Amino acid sequence: MSEAITRKIDRSQMQVSDEVAISITNMNKWYGTFHVLRDINLTVHQGERIVIAGPSGSGKSTLIRCINRLEEHQAGQIIVDGVELTSDIKNIDKVRSEVGMVFQHFNLFPHLTVLENCTLAPIWVRKVPKKQAEATAMHFLEKVKIPEQANKYPGQLSGGQQQRVAIARSLCMQPRIMLFDEPTSALDPEMIKEVLDTMIELAEEGMTMLCVTHEMGFAQAVANRVIFMDQGQIVEQNNPHDFFNNPKSERTKLFLSQIL
Ligand code: ADP
Ligand code: MG
Repeated sequence: MSEAITRKIDRSQMQVSDEVAISITNMNKWYGTFHVLRDINLTVHQGERIVIAGPSGSGKSTLIRCINRLEEHQAGQIIVDGVELTSDIKNIDKVRSEVGMVFQHFNLFPHLTVLENCTLAPIWVRKVPKKQAEATAMHFLEKVKIPEQANKYPGQLSGGQQQRVAIARSLCMQPRIMLFDEPTSALDPEMIKEVLDTMIELAEEGMTMLCVTHEMGFAQAVANRVIFMDQGQIVEQNNPHDFFNNPKSERTKLFLSQIL
């Protein structure tokens, strides 16, 4: 399996609470006439670390993009931290401020420094005073171990460093939930580990996380639940041990045989 995980993992704060973070009920989504998500039902509790796996095109990105309304669903219900996602822009703003998202391609602003990338939303969306936003940004840049890069531009950083900036930038908004969409897929192997280490630290601090990833070592080490999607449906979900050792559906078995 993935040799990217070498550190010993502290599970003491990885507690799943009774509090529901995300509740998705009979959710369906279409792109035009294409039925991309079919009857999705999913409850995520605070403190859960969920890995979403599945073949390319199965709807993983669409699902997590629906959770912060980067995509709109057409049927069923999505409730994030008690707020139902509807076309009401107030609800969308509230949910976006509580849900951080990290993408495969970092999506940093190239013309802003690392520090400016991290302070932009806190200053303009949260109305945090500049000095305070900078202090918070430095705190999180230290956390992802690149404070010395604060005044550089994204193009001057390695891919792994840029992705850690993207994580720090999300954390500056003090989210309660973090969504990751293949955060290491665009990285060279030697940089995957540093990003996974950052994600592991977040998990160790009790962050609620939904991660689309092919890093099955990460899933085994950190996830409390693995969800397998295929053709727009959640086909199977289980704890990592049973998911990998005792998959139930033929589609899951086929997928695992291809990636492990
Ligand atoms: P995954 O992340 O699992 O690879 P996606 O959620 O990106 O899957 O895509 C699921 C399906 O929806 C794919 O068939 C993809 O081609 C299609 N799709 C994704 N985004 C769009 C879009 N904006 N418009 C139309 N079809 C899309
Ligand atoms: Mg995707």
